Amino acid sequence: MSDLDAWGRIRTDMRQSIGKEAYQSWIDPLSLDKIDEGTAHFAAPTSFIGNWVERNYGDRIRSHFAREGYAVNRLKFAVAPAAARKAATPAGERTPSPPLQDSAETESLPGAPLDPRFTFDRFVVGKPNELAHAAARRVAEGRDVSFNPLVLYGGVGLGKTHLMHAIAWKLQEENPDFRVLYLSAEQFMYRFVQALRFKDTIGFKKLFRSVDVLMVDDVQFIAGKESTQEEFFHTFNALIDQNKQVIISADRAPGEIDGLEDRIKSRLQWGLVADLHPTDFELRLGILQSKLDAHREKDPSIEIDDKVIDFLAHRVSTNVRVLEGALNRLFAFSSLVGRKIDMEMTHETLADLLRASERKVTIDEIIRKVMEFYNLRMADLMSARRARAIARPRQIAMYLAKTLTSKSLPEIGRKFGGRDHTTVMHAVKRVEELKQTDSQIAEEVEILRRALEA
Ligand code: ADP
Ligand code: MG
Repeated sequence: MSDLDAWGRIRTDMRQSIGKEAYQSWIDPLSLDKIDEGTAHFAAPTSFIGNWVERNYGDRIRSHFAREGYAVNRLKFAVAPAAARKAATPAGERTPSPPLQDSAETESLPGAPLDPRFTFDRFVVGKPNELAHAAARRVAEGRDVSFNPLVLYGGVGLGKTHLMHAIAWKLQEENPDFRVLYLSAEQFMYRFVQALRFKDTIGFKKLFRSVDVLMVDDVQFIAGKESTQEEFFHTFNALIDQNKQVIISADRAPGEIDGLEDRIKSRLQWGLVADLHPTDFELRLGILQSKLDAHREKDPSIEIDDKVIDFLAHRVSTNVRVLEGALNRLFAFSSLVGRKIDMEMTHETLADLLRASERKVTIDEIIRKVMEFYNLRMADLMSARRARAIARPRQIAMYLAKTLTSKSLPEIGRKFGGRDHTTVMHAVKRVEELKQTDSQIAEEVEILRRALEA
């Protein structure tokens, strides 16, 4: 019986931490059958719920069990009809959880929880996300709805969800009685399917049409799902017609989402469409610096070599999530072994990431770009001529080959007309010095780097 007591307490905690609506949708429908050899066996009404819980709350549930003294490392969900589930948890043996009110009486909305870290304060602005950020800020003021809908699109890990949550936080802060509903397109679909199943599409419509601001994240998810799209389209139109703000994100431009109805594509383009470009070096540097500052507040003892930040910004990824992951791994490692984060530790700790993100830039591409840029011929670059107009670009090309590829000095030397590795080393040093003293050169190197990394 104590398994059930523990589960009862976990449920109560979860209800607090994930919010009543999420609790009702995902946790309440579960019942614990038994805990057996590290596996907690649950009955769930559908496998969808089981999968969802595993994906979104799995870790949390496991750590709750750990706190209750159970070593649960796996959750298993068996699909059981409602009656069987009731029988599995005899009423008398179940720790009562706080009575749940009918959701109709409350103001809370069935959205996804907002991440407290995803605020404007913590969003670093750079060229690639400038427009999206400005648009998000404007919409977050909530004064007029001149950009309706606001569509934010861009690749994975570029900050779409962060910006949407930031808008939601800000709107709620300024207008506490605004009904802001944020959810993923997947949740939208799930809600809709549930409404169909329980014959409550009227309730569904009423709910979605009663919000002041609707945010649907990753709308590409509903591509190809016809009835969901149909419902989405009507919800969307109803809100726009009432001058209610709608904010949508997608992983690519609305027009490019295959399987999305044309009428939705075109309606999405009525408002403001702002894209998030892949991060560039400066933005990554800024983000790393800001994450480092935030970490320092928690752990002032952290020491990190400046070179590491620079290296990560160059090498890890345009995806900010991956970048953050790399930095966090270094923080964790450093605090475990009590060592300063230096290049050696970085290479050791991030070997897998670094291999995966190995620049695909080749020496041939570098040579080609440099030739183009300085208007030189291949023969010039390969020659032994020392005239500055030729020698300088040659050194820059070698420097880029060294910093953007993983080729060794001798390999690079060979590519440049069979030069010695010391020549390459000298070139790299020289360009490093020049970058400090000659802003023209620094800029040229940066332009070339960007062109090559694009
Ligand atoms: P997306 O939804 O576009 O896939 P997210 O918004 O989830 O990406 O961002 C991934 C991670 O990167 C989050 O932890 C987010 O806080 C962080 N992130 C992305 N862009 C920025 C930025 N400009 N400044 C600070 N953090 C960022
Ligand atoms: Mg996202």
